[in-house]
Amino acid sequence: HISKLPNVETTIFSIMSGLAKQHNAINLSQGFPDFGSDQKLNDLVSKAMNEGYNQYAPMAGNLELRDAISKKIELLYNTSYHPENEITVTAGATQAIFTIINAFVKPNDEVIIFKPAYDSYQPAIELNGGKAIAVQLKAPDFKVDWNDVKQKINNRTKMIIINTPHNPSGTVFSKEDMLQLESLTKNTNIIVLSDEVYEHMVYDGGTHQSACLFPDLKSRSFVVASFCKTFHNTGWRIGYCCAPKELMELFMQVHQFNVFCIHHPTQKGIADYMQEPKHYLELSEFYQRKRDLFLSLIKGSRFKFKPSKGTYFQVLDYSDITNEYDVDYAKRLTKESGIASIPLSVFNTNNLDNKVLRFCFAKKDDTLKKAAEILTHI
Ligand code: GLN
Repeated sequence: HISKLPNVETTIFSIMSGLAKQHNAINLSQGFPDFGSDQKLNDLVSKAMNEGYNQYAPMAGNLELRDAISKKIELLYNTSYHPENEITVTAGATQAIFTIINAFVKPNDEVIIFKPAYDSYQPAIELNGGKAIAVQLKAPDFKVDWNDVKQKINNRTKMIIINTPHNPSGTVFSKEDMLQLESLTKNTNIIVLSDEVYEHMVYDGGTHQSACLFPDLKSRSFVVASFCKTFHNTGWRIGYCCAPKELMELFMQVHQFNVFCIHHPTQKGIADYMQEPKHYLELSEFYQRKRDLFLSLIKGSRFKFKPSKGTYFQVLDYSDITNEYDVDYAKRLTKESGIASIPLSVFNTNNLDNKVLRFCFAKKDDTLKKAAEILTHI
């Protein structure tokens, strides 16, 4: 076969957003806000351009931004990553994830992922000749069975990819989960890729358990984070990753030939904006209110749900409505009812019979009201 990914189709995010556009549907599928980033942040990026931040940044990123990231981590997690050699700014979290996998996974290596899993993990593993080993999280609670993980770890296990808060289920790993991961990987060479792009969206008084909070786990982890999700500008493609310097050195071997560095003025603008921590500290409250609004409005509908504990996604169970395969139902809802969502099975190839759709609530209140109006009449 001429393709390196013969079984991969166009990502569901493009498909559903395209379908939403075509049918003029409310788009709660692909995860992005229908409002923009703070004018103040936009102005700071323009200012950076006008002040001449228009040539290459250092490969690891603008140093002021790496400093700001380091300070943020100290403030939130009381641990440090050195701005000089333990933090790299990337073209979105997706590039960080891809580059980490590319830098470490060799043919026949095994990588444990938790399904439903974000759709880029498996293709990235397979492009490098690795094998994705799935641990299934089961609806409705999507909890990890650590015994299952333990049984799947062997001497071919190169990496474990976790994602908390979890897209698409909205579950959040507990401290106990992280301690289990730490103990299962202790004294091994397993690298942990911790995708934490929704770190600032945790609800109902919960706390985000970053891999960097656990010293032994931190020593073998890459923590991946996103500015696009945090600052409401997914089109800016900017995120970062952190790791101990020995691991970051190996990441940089690939990063330098992958993107070299990313868009410089955006980095400088964000560095200035981050001087005020409230810009990320207030995000959980901001999105919890939206989640609550959305859920209060669809309470009388035939969809069943447990409130999302993190991320800006809510999964809804439609088993009382229809028996259709979720991809078909998501498409039909878009075409016939004018509302687009993401079918969970695309994250989850092992389990094709779940009747769950994911809805993004990072939307203006007005959009959420219109969406709820449709959902309550289904
Ligand atoms: N992270 C976003 C989501 O889960 C999508 C990102 C993308 O479209 N590549 O919806």
